[in-house]
Amino acid sequence: LMRESYSSENDKGFKTLCPTLRPVVIVGGKGQMGRMFEKMLTLSGYQVEILDKGDWDRADTLLSSAGMVIISVPIHLTEEVIARLPTLPEDCILVDLASIKNRPLQAMLAAHSGPVLGLHPMFGPDSGSLAKQVVVWCDGRQPEACQWFLEQIQVWGARLHRISAVEHDQNMAFIQALRHFATFAYGLHLAEENVQLEQLLALSSPIYRLELAMVGRLFAQDPQLYADIIMSSESNLALIKRYYHRFGEAITLLEKGDKQAFVHSFNQVKHWFGDYADHFMQESRTLLRQANDRK
Ligand code: NAD
Repeated sequence: LMRESYSSENDKGFKTLCPTLRPVVIVGGKGQMGRMFEKMLTLSGYQVEILDKGDWDRADTLLSSAGMVIISVPIHLTEEVIARLPTLPEDCILVDLASIKNRPLQAMLAAHSGPVLGLHPMFGPDSGSLAKQVVVWCDGRQPEACQWFLEQIQVWGARLHRISAVEHDQNMAFIQALRHFATFAYGLHLAEENVQLEQLLALSSPIYRLELAMVGRLFAQDPQLYADIIMSSESNLALIKRYYHRFGEAITLLEKGDKQAFVHSFNQVKHWFGDYADHFMQESRTLLRQANDRK
């Protein structure tokens, strides 16, 4: 019901929290995220201009009167696009939407002397609306000038979470780089083993079907985005290598047929999860029931 009321608000439009804002320019605005922000800002009464590749001859004109500039280009181009910006008006808010935060934020602080904000929408463009989605934000400069925009995002229904750019990137190494790489490797393995998907699905209970769907949905998305996310830092590679190493260690348990050691390790992990293990059991049970009921 919440979702329905948000999506009907989409059609009517949202409250304009900063009616005096000069035009917003979205660099990379023809892309997936850029289009979503264009839609939300337009529905909120702001004037939005797009600067995509091929529009740079108009950059000076577009940017000289901008009230806010949002960078939404592929991750691997983010820093060079920021460095390429002409001087922005002193009060212009410079924002980026990249899935990694520290390097883009440093680039923005170097390129602009006015307000700077790092945003990471923690969802893909297929979500349809921002209702109940998480948007992570990192303080850059002059947070008081950016406050209305954070509130505007809340008006769109999203939940905000503030974190430092460095901590953001450390956490994303687990949430994104390692997780997506493991999914990629699992998909690669299914494909190389030439598994018959129809048969797997015919034999699957709802939970396995859901797990398979979580793997398969990665491959419906943009490979460049995931390459950029996974390869965004040396520390991601080091983390993935440690995972690979642990995988190997776990395999030696199998080679030795050492069930006792397996059970021991299992219990160590169970202890580490603590109350979350039972909590996750209950939570996933509820989710599975809901998924079944909806069929
Ligand atoms: P996208 O490829 O759909 O869009 C990128 C846009 O940038 C394209 O329109 C492209 O033409 C344009 N572009 C390329 N080079 C340019 C240049 N030199 N100057 C101007 N425009 C240029 O990518 P996307 O998925 O919209 O991602 C954009 C940003 O959003 C990335 O930083 C990404 O990390 C972030 N993001 C994406 C998702 C997602 O699921 N798609 C989720 C969270 C954050």
